[in-house]
Amino acid sequence: MNLVRARLLVLALVLLLAACGDTRPVSRDVQGADTFEDDLRTARTLTESFWAEFFDQQGMTYRPIAAFIPYSGSSGPSCGGEPSVPNNAFYCPEGHYIAFDRSWMESLWNDMGDGSVYVIIPHEFGHAVQAQLRTGFELNVQAELQADCYAGGTLSALVRSGSLQAQPGDEDELLTSLEAAGDPTDDWLNPAAHGTAEQRQSAFADGYEGGVGGC
Ligand SMILES: [Zn+2]
Repeated sequence: MNLVRARLLVLALVLLLAACGDTRPVSRDVQGADTFEDDLRTARTLTESFWAEFFDQQGMTYRPIAAFIPYSGSSGPSCGGEPSVPNNAFYCPEGHYIAFDRSWMESLWNDMGDGSVYVIIPHEFGHAVQAQLRTGFELNVQAELQADCYAGGTLSALVRSGSLQAQPGDEDELLTSLEAAGDPTDDWLNPAAHGTAEQRQSAFADGYEGGVGGC
């Protein structure tokens, strides 16, 4: 067992949603109570609520994304002149929106579990935050690893606040999802673009343990 894996075991990676005081399982594996659409909506809502509060604490104002756009195959919006590609999710600074190949996301949700949505969506919101903080990076991979760190910090804050509940269990769900998060113009499995699986898992764990302020 390597270090990253040992740390992630602590993260407890089957996410359960606490709704209206009741603890309601998110994972379809438990009761099938949550649809893919439920998880998409929840991931977006909770992530933006978290960042709005974080920005407020810093004396800043978070700007919600302008749109959350599902697309199919190659039919998605273009961003900066680049067409959408299948099997991807991305944040577009021009237009300040997030778009995703809906059927690709749903197949990840089916194959890997709901954790995939709770990693990919917060990762893309991490880029929306970078745009607002005007974070500059020399290398794309640095921006990608910070977005992974932001995703980890977001999820840990949501777990601590009780918005999400975590249970010991299937850590592979999120680990696998980290390898699948994508961006436009990048091959989402290309390690050169996003960092190696180990780098990405380590960045996620750093955020989970240290919070977004340490990213
Ligand atoms: Zn990214």
